[in-house]
Amino acid sequence: MAHHRRAELLSDRAALRTRMAAWRESHQIVALVPTMGALHEGHLSLVRLVAARADRLLVSIFVNPAQFTPSEDFSAYPRTLEADREKLGTAVDAIYCPPVADIYPADFVTSISLEGPATTGLEDRFRPTHFKGVATVVAKLFLQTTPHLAVFGEKDFQQLCVIRQMVRDLELPVNVVAAPTIREVDGLAMSSRNVYLSEAERAVAPLIYHTLTQCAERLRQGDEASRVLAEGVAILEKSGFSVDYLEWRQADTLLPATTIEQPTRVLVAARIGATRLIDNIAV
Ligand code: AMP
Repeated sequence: MAHHRRAELLSDRAALRTRMAAWRESHQIVALVPTMGALHEGHLSLVRLVAARADRLLVSIFVNPAQFTPSEDFSAYPRTLEADREKLGTAVDAIYCPPVADIYPADFVTSISLEGPATTGLEDRFRPTHFKGVATVVAKLFLQTTPHLAVFGEKDFQQLCVIRQMVRDLELPVNVVAAPTIREVDGLAMSSRNVYLSEAERAVAPLIYHTLTQCAERLRQGDEASRVLAEGVAILEKSGFSVDYLEWRQADTLLPATTIEQPTRVLVAARIGATRLIDNIAV
């Protein structure tokens, strides 16, 4: 059998600390790619994006209980560490996959919560404790891994804004890099949750991207926003989606957009069957 070369597995914070100390000692520039595993091309593109900017690449894989609301899929979330290791191959130097107790010891009581982008009525309206969980775990991962760079996908655009805000507010010494969204050939944004889709749901799922594209095009042409968005919702609902939101927002603040003079995005969250999908594009 062929012997696969693979990245070093750092299974707990002690192993991480030893590795980080060695890298720091030899003045290596470290890039962190935080993930929840079940890796796909989107995750791999994040790794590739910073490969040239860092001496050492570290992927963290941690399914963060704090960012799931109780009704969500925390226990069902796909955990595929062996396949993830295979996919990463030697594209990264190490994979940090701590047990929950290494992030949240039994007596853990601190959390980081933001206003601003975390409270603009998008994801926060449907997942009220989500960004508190995200900000807290990302801050902790930053402190444990002390990276020079950290990469986040535009796929989770509100999350990216929240991380940027937190890094600014706390002056965390991390350079946040944004990565473009990687899509399937039919336009569906890659997501670990796409495996939940039935064949029929998978067949209609690209309508999310097509609707975003259409809305962005009409907004660029100057069509009235409320009408554009209402028609977008109607198209999605006619095909069986339940739309949580479809909104036009300023790209930097996530406040409602009124003009295309500044960068703006259209953001959507829609449920099909039991699966909730999110996506967004630049206008
Ligand atoms: P997750 O494992 O879903 O928490 O995602 C880990 C990182 O990968 C986050 O920064 C996501 O925004 C990013 N990501 C997820 N899907 C994609 C995609 N299709 N294209 C680009 N980045 C993505």
